[in-house]
Amino acid sequence: MYIKNLSFVPLREWGLPMGDIFLSAGPCSAESEKQVLDVAKGIAGCGISFMRAGLWKPRTHPSSFEGVGIKGLKWLVRAREEYNQPIGIEVANPKHVEACLEHKVDVVWIGARTTTNPFAVQALADALKGTDQPVFVKNPICPDLGLWLGAIERLYNMGLRKIGVIHRGFSTSRKVLYRFAPNWKIPIELKRRLPDVPILCDPSHICGKAELIFSIAQEALDLLFDGLMIEVHVDPAKALSDAKQQIKPEEFSSLINRLKLKTELSDDGKFHTRMKELRLEVDLIDSHFIELLCKRMEIASEMGELKRKYNISPLQPHRWEDIVVSRLDAGKKKDLSEEFVFQLFEAIHEEAIRHQAEVAVSLPK
Ligand code: PEP
Ligand code: MN
Repeated sequence: MYIKNLSFVPLREWGLPMGDIFLSAGPCSAESEKQVLDVAKGIAGCGISFMRAGLWKPRTHPSSFEGVGIKGLKWLVRAREEYNQPIGIEVANPKHVEACLEHKVDVVWIGARTTTNPFAVQALADALKGTDQPVFVKNPICPDLGLWLGAIERLYNMGLRKIGVIHRGFSTSRKVLYRFAPNWKIPIELKRRLPDVPILCDPSHICGKAELIFSIAQEALDLLFDGLMIEVHVDPAKALSDAKQQIKPEEFSSLINRLKLKTELSDDGKFHTRMKELRLEVDLIDSHFIELLCKRMEIASEMGELKRKYNISPLQPHRWEDIVVSRLDAGKKKDLSEEFVFQLFEAIHEEAIRHQAEVAVSLPK
């Protein structure tokens, strides 16, 4: 498959402070000068690369808090001066970019809703043209890798090279444990296509609940993400946006201390020998798995023929509902996550319907 040969500036050369990983923390929204300064103080010793805060909030309902707007910029600039930590803001239109450039905001990011709109992304790319501005692109809210790649390319085409991405989860018709489905295969595929692009995970928006953040953050590090963006508020319960998913500065500090860093390679011989054996076992299981799936599809085709003969629809909603319920139940007993089992059977069912439909159109009447 086509892999774009784009080269990006590595995170360590962005001119921002960075420990073992790249960390951004701060409130979902800037709410008052005091709140911004309190959070800045709370996270000052945590070695973050930039403090985040939203000034213009993209909300589903217009009656929700839509951010304090431009007036919050000076609060952030003050926090940067007082605590000597870089700042980052979400931008959604060229006016936001202009304000951020004017105040030398260290990092800007494009939000999930904006990434879905190529016109909006192009307008931002045009506004950033000719600058060396560090920019992160959050994944589009819908699970569409093309839109994510397209947004990166629009910035790249305008000469930007300090480009990173943020995985913040995807909308799904089926809400399981998380607010937004992690759908790890999409950021993994993005990394395969653009191996140099720095990638952060935003567990706060994926989880939607404070108590799940640690496990998603650790999962991201296990997948070799370069860093994390986490929402931190001094009084999460009173936050004007995303109250359930924000954590206190002290919780943030303890969370990052508990995370374990992983490396891709090891030169330990024992590791390699055992790993090779285990990989062979996995290869064998996967080849049985493919054979089983083929058998299942052959049966599906036979069912298709039968249904056609009796003028029955390939899709049988009740049967599908039974499959979902019984497979989720069986998976649960074996400690497989509901989300995984559902996605697996959804893909299998879709392929089976395709096989049945193929038979339905390929046979003479
Ligand atoms: C945010 O970072 O607060 C935000 C609005 O995020 P997203 O664009 O991922 O929804
Ligand atoms: Mn938020």
